[in-house]
Amino acid sequence: MTEIREDEYLDPADGLIHCRKCGGSRQTVIPDPFKGGTFKPRCVCPCQQEAERRRREAEKRRQRIERIRRRKAQGLQDRYLYGYTFANDNGGNPVMAKAHAYVDHWPQAFKRNIGLLLFGDVGTGKSFLAGCIANALLDRDVPVLMTNFPTILARLCGTFGEDRTAFLDSLGDYDLLIIDDLGVERNTEYALEQMFSIIDSRYRCNKPLIVTTNLKLDELKNPPDLAHARIYDRILERCAPILFAGKNFREDNAASTKAAARQIITPPTASHRQTVTEKGEL
Ligand SMILES: [Zn+2]
Repeated sequence: MTEIREDEYLDPADGLIHCRKCGGSRQTVIPDPFKGGTFKPRCVCPCQQEAERRRREAEKRRQRIERIRRRKAQGLQDRYLYGYTFANDNGGNPVMAKAHAYVDHWPQAFKRNIGLLLFGDVGTGKSFLAGCIANALLDRDVPVLMTNFPTILARLCGTFGEDRTAFLDSLGDYDLLIIDDLGVERNTEYALEQMFSIIDSRYRCNKPLIVTTNLKLDELKNPPDLAHARIYDRILERCAPILFAGKNFREDNAASTKAAARQIITPPTASHRQTVTEKGEL
């Protein structure tokens, strides 16, 4: 005889145990092929099934959040990159529309291995744009690594054989690799050789690469020697060039910092406080 729990009752109509909450059956009837007759094993009622479904979904969400947090810690090695998000974009740079578009079209970009080459003058927002793409995709559960060659070279320094291969292979685990500030590293023969290895392995594993650089497109298209040429050729083949022209956003930022500082050290008047509240600043 099956024990009846507090939230159950025995329905005389079918002789089975039912749930008090949803009225669904918690027993099922199965014919006994050996002895004849039937037996009545336990089963879950609809509200128990629903509770289990919710528990699994909550667990999945928890795991997803944990995975994203871990990937961010791995993929955004510099703390400041956490602040490079669409939410922190002041809307001053029209090129940012391209970053939104890239993120929105990510499945196609990934499938067709389309990367970006962000080039232009210092302080025009290239790293910020790349960082926004990194954060937006990481939030969508995509493995992204944003790094730069000096960091990679420091990591590779003194690494040989299997360790070196394992590290280079690990870069291929990321669906998107972002190399910030190409061209700032010392161009020794060793450095160029490592750079080529990275770019070439990315090229061969058919996964997208985003590069930011202060170099001019002209310099990339007319490299000084063969060592540079084979690196730049690979990049130009797979990365769509986007020019960052004109405005220096770092100067803008410096100006707004000055303005904010002025506000902070100026004794507030009634009308000033009003303006600040209306704008929702501070
Ligand atoms: Zn139930």
